[in-house]
Amino acid sequence: MTTESEKLRHDLRRLLGAANVLTAKEDLIAYSFDGTAALQQMPGGVVFASSTADVAGILKLANEYKTAVVTRGSGTGLSGGSLPSQDCIVLCTVKMDKILELDRANLTMLVEPGVTTLQIADAAVSAGLFYPPDPGSMKISTIGGNVAENSGGLRGLKYGVTRNYVMGLEVVLPNGEVMWLGNKCVKDVAGYSLKDVFIGSEGTLGVITKVLLRLIPKPVAKKTMVATFAQMDQAAEAVSAIIAAQIIPCTLEFLDRMTIHCVEDFARIGLPLDCEALLLMETDGHPVVVAEEAAQMEKICREQGCLEVRVAKDDAEATKLASARRSAFSALARVAPTTILEDATVPRSELAKMIRFVEATAKKYKLRVGTFGHMGDGNLHPTFLTDERNKEEMHRVEEAFKEIFDEAMRLGGTITGEHGIGLAKKSFLPKFAGEAQMRVMRELRHVLDPNGILNPGKMFD
Ligand SMILES: Cc1cc2nc3c(=O)[nH]c(=O)nc-3n(C[C@H](O)[C@H](O)[C@H](O)COP(=O)(O)OP(=O)(O)OC[C@H]3O[C@@H](n4cnc5c(N)ncnc54)[C@H](O)[C@@H]3O)c2cc1C
Repeated sequence: MTTESEKLRHDLRRLLGAANVLTAKEDLIAYSFDGTAALQQMPGGVVFASSTADVAGILKLANEYKTAVVTRGSGTGLSGGSLPSQDCIVLCTVKMDKILELDRANLTMLVEPGVTTLQIADAAVSAGLFYPPDPGSMKISTIGGNVAENSGGLRGLKYGVTRNYVMGLEVVLPNGEVMWLGNKCVKDVAGYSLKDVFIGSEGTLGVITKVLLRLIPKPVAKKTMVATFAQMDQAAEAVSAIIAAQIIPCTLEFLDRMTIHCVEDFARIGLPLDCEALLLMETDGHPVVVAEEAAQMEKICREQGCLEVRVAKDDAEATKLASARRSAFSALARVAPTTILEDATVPRSELAKMIRFVEATAKKYKLRVGTFGHMGDGNLHPTFLTDERNKEEMHRVEEAFKEIFDEAMRLGGTITGEHGIGLAKKSFLPKFAGEAQMRVMRELRHVLDPNGILNPGKMFD
């Protein structure tokens, strides 16, 4: 260890207290990876901030010592965003975990970045309100991570993603300066919307230290149902017909045969196994509208030749049916040592084509794949079940993904619908974004972070 890094550790301990600075190898291992398969890198140290002033102090020291800082919430990211860079400081926000204000007059909630998504959802419900974004990881993911990734969830089709609920942000810039963006006004067009630049910036432009969230009234009623199909195309047609009938369900998710079997094996929900595709549909709102939409969706599925429609009789059954989708990733992850989950996304009209392409590509490269995802918004999760110790198979997985992302772009889609670029999809970004966009993003980042302190090597170099 150099004298410089010893001095930095000393200064960090003085700033944060020794208990908030980890440097022992056995402590650092837990922070050397995130939710992304096959990526690991030891950091130089891990620090826990408890306040905005702590974050500002850490960033000032990092600039002084020219040391990289990687911000980390719960480390559930699926694109390697919070993976440490070599010898960096991991700045962990989980101790900034307070709900600071719930404003019933303005329907807003002010929170620190380490509050979990579920805590926010529960606090909203206890005030009779609703915070819709519900990433599959919501029990542990932090709101800071959600904002930095602009995370989506199962309700994205009707209610949108994290961005749609962020009214304001407090951000510490890479040089330690504190900036507040946005406010409680429903309308505000003063200056550039810089708040939106930080949403989805994956920890590369600043550290989010407070989030002002928009809440909405809680829907009074909800109906959950599952439909199964003998062919994937029928399920895709049913989705198109539901949207064409001007029904926007809050959830319209699908599972393919492989995923259905893995989920049933794992969760014993009682799903029918003799089908190629399963649709999970939820409609919420006024009870009359909910009943009408549910009946229409059932009719549409039957017209498309579905095998069976099961409507949940009560909340307990609804939760059980929804858990089929919520447990998809965990269920697939039991099958092989390494689970690589991606999120190629296409316009809804191209879904069936994209699903067929994923299946054909898996066959071509002799790989096992399970696909599930947000069918209503074109966001697919092709998940390869592999083993990172098998280098030859990992190479085939990489080749398969290249083809899948190329096809997604060819169909007018994107290389990531919600998991972000991070390290995992960095090589695909230049082709997707084009020269002008890459230049503007690089220049913006350089203006904010001239010393390249924050999350170096992520998203782009
Ligand atoms: C089982 C499972 C299911 C998932 N389901 C979904 C899903 O449905 N939808 C979805 O969108 N994602 C999903 N994810 C991915 C992941 O949970 C989300 O990206 C989540 O928002 C990450 O939150 P986190 O607190 O774990 O952030 P981390 O993984 O710690 O960090 C993610 C990124 O955000 C940055 N960051 C974190 N906190 C801050 C901050 N305060 N300021 C600035 N930058 C910050 C990090 O540097 C990193 O680049 C899932 C992951 C798993 C493991």
